[in-house]
Amino acid sequence: MVKPDGVERGLVGEIIKRFELKGYQLLAIQLFKPTREHLQEHYKDLKEKPFFPPLIEYMLSGPVVGMVWQGREMVKVGRRMLGETNPLNSNPGTIRGDFCIETGRNLCHGSDSVESAEREIALWFPSGVIQWERTKIQKLIY
Ligand code: ADP
Ligand code: MG
Repeated sequence: MVKPDGVERGLVGEIIKRFELKGYQLLAIQLFKPTREHLQEHYKDLKEKPFFPPLIEYMLSGPVVGMVWQGREMVKVGRRMLGETNPLNSNPGTIRGDFCIETGRNLCHGSDSVESAEREIALWFPSGVIQWERTKIQKLIY
């Protein structure tokens, strides 16, 4: 997901580009203006954390772009491409490492396990995603 600061700063294309060039496949994409309740459900595992209220306010500050990506080791490699939660600990070459400096405005969200990806996909894309196959020649490239 591209968070409100990423949408506002016009980084949606840059973020999509990185996943496309890496070889991942886009299965769903939508611009959302989520409700507070939706965001509280999305981040329910963090509801006891002290940063939960400001996190929800941040996520309510503008539209977000939700995406579903597919490919080998998607969750693990996708998280690596995002960088660390704190952008100051994120390596250059990662999205957070290249474009931000604050944990509270860290541009993007990525599911932290296959199980949470399944839960989050069901929450944001309840009518499902588009399954599609690459052509044979494209499979050879990727
Ligand atoms: P990640 O997004 O890297 O999976 P978490 O799931 O731990 O990180 O936290 C969710 C989001 O909450 C973070 O991306 C960040 O926007 C915010 N957050 C996490 N820790 C802090 C913190 N200590 N202070 C402010 N915001 C935080
Ligand atoms: Mg997380």
